[in-house]
Amino acid sequence: MAPVGSYPPVSPIVAGLRCRCPRCGEGRLFKGYLTLVDECEHCGLHLADSDSGDGPAVFLIFIVGFLAVGLAIWVEVTWEPAVWVHALVSGGFVIGLSLLLLRPAKAYVMALQYRHRRDEFEG
Ligand SMILES: [Zn+2]
Repeated sequence: MAPVGSYPPVSPIVAGLRCRCPRCGEGRLFKGYLTLVDECEHCGLHLADSDSGDGPAVFLIFIVGFLAVGLAIWVEVTWEPAVWVHALVSGGFVIGLSLLLLRPAKAYVMALQYRHRRDEFEG
């Protein structure tokens, strides 16, 4: 384990997309779907008490909602399907994209918290 100050800065976007530790960019951030590891396996950063709150969900509500409305308009203009088709297409799109993006969004918010409030992570 290297001393705390010896890690080069990690881009929050890269750490978020890879779901990696915000300090070293190498260790896994999650031990389940959204459960954080207690500490980084690579650098030892304590992560068990970290909390990203509702930030990742709010990001996704805006992003996925915007895309879902665009998809619904495009499907309606292109095929004019029945309402139940809209429910299936939009529902599947929203649920699938949300599940796909929630982990990277949470990792991204954790990386931003580490960058701007590092003392909360390192005591
Ligand atoms: Zn680490």
